[in-house]
This record gives sequence, structure tokens and C-alpha cells, in this order.
Amino acid sequence: MAIRVVVWGENIHDRENEIVRELYPNGMHGTIAEALNRDPAIEATTATMEQPEHGLSEERLANTDVLTWWGHRDHGGVDDAVVDRVAERVWQGMGLLVLHSGHFSKIFRKLMGTPCSLTWREAGEKERIWTINRGHPIARGLAPHFVIPQSEMYGEPFAVPEPMETVFISWYDGGEVFRSGVTYRRGGGKIFYFSPGHEVYPIYNDENVRTVLRNGVKWAYNPAPALVGISDAPNRPASEALEPIVERGPTLHAPGETGFR
Ligand code: ZN
Repeated sequence: MAIRVVVWGENIHDRENEIVRELYPNGMHGTIAEALNRDPAIEATTATMEQPEHGLSEERLANTDVLTWWGHRDHGGVDDAVVDRVAERVWQGMGLLVLHSGHFSKIFRKLMGTPCSLTWREAGEKERIWTINRGHPIARGLAPHFVIPQSEMYGEPFAVPEPMETVFISWYDGGEVFRSGVTYRRGGGKIFYFSPGHEVYPIYNDENVRTVLRNGVKWAYNPAPALVGISDAPNRPASEALEPIVERGPTLHAPGETGFR
């Protein structure tokens, strides 16, 4: 069975900005899904913010192996209940690709637990991406370095936790550097953040970028996710030991007491 991917797009600039509309007539989400579907092992569909429940109902997410997230203009407009639902699925084992300005989305900041801020400059600079972890599955088929002719500069410091792995580092005309491809694991879910993807440049038409997205989806796919998430299994007493034990010392909790207060 193919990897079931939902490509989530905020779909605001895609509709309202003339340049973006021209570059991505089917929306950035449409272009990203099309790039993913070039691989027969992937089956990508799209969901957008203006749909009911942002297109991410309980049922849809239950049938999603990997979710990709692109947002920029209205991170605050994303319903907290949907954010919690996505986080729950990541903890269960759903993969998550966070793209470009998604670094500041509610879901990424929730899962990272840090501000996720960075420095930026919109000057159409050249970005040279260095593949510094060449044995990584996400780097498969890529050159040691490649160029995006026009990019938005995203610079350090990037206020994220120390990554599990750093796959790419970018350098820009202006001299800044950035950890442009980093991985995390949260619960059962694998997370890949990839920074190129500013909407007024044709970055999602770039073949190297499209290779990264396909590789990222395949890497993030967890074929054996847990059936229940962490919030379905809260702190609870294990009063009956599996092996015989001798109880010793004073106790704080009354017999039969459950949970914390
Ligand atoms: Zn941007």
C-alpha cells in the first residue's frame, strides 16, 4: 500500500497574491502533492485551511501516514483543537514534514516546545544548500551541494531544540547560515523541517527540492504506529505488580487512589 500523505496548505497567498497565483495555479499544496505523486510509493492528497476543520478531521488524520504543513500568514487562525489532534497523531506515529514558514506554526512550536524563531530577509538571495549528512535517507540522490537561485534568507539563531539529525545547512549571498533540514522524533512520530519554500519564488518546482520532499515523506513514514496516543494513556497507578513484591516504607497515596491531583 502506498504511503498516504496529506499536503496541508494555508492557501491564503496562493489565492490572494498575484505572483503566487501565477507560480502555483493549483496552490502550493497542489504543486507539492503533484511532486510527491511522481513517486508510485506515495499517494498524496491536499487539505486547506478554509475547509471545515481545516480539512483535518479525526477520520482523515486517522488515515494519514505523513502530513506536510505549509503556513505563513495566519498561524494564529488555526484551531487549537486541530493542532492538538495533529500532535496526538504525531505521538501515535504519524510523520510530519514542516515546510518553510511553518517553522512558526502552532503545531511545530507545540511539538518543539521552544519559540522556533529565526532571522529572515526577503531579498531574492542565492541559497546554497549543503548536504552535510550524505548517508541520510533524506539526502538520497542529492549532490553534495545545490543552489536555489532566489530564496528568502532564513538565518541563525534558529530557536529550536538541538536536532536529532542535521541533514542540510544553507548559506546565503548575505553571509548568513541556517540549519535548513533538521529531524526530530516526538513520541512515535518522525518530524522533518525543511526551510526552502518562500511563496514568491518557484522553489517547489525545483527538482532538488522535490527530491527532498519525496525522500522526507519516505523517511517520516512509520509503518508500525502505536494504536493509542500518549493522551489515551495518562499517568496511572500500577497497583498490581507482575512479580511478588514486599511493600516497604511509608506511603503518600491512600489505597485505591488513582491519578494525580
Ligand atoms: Zn517566506
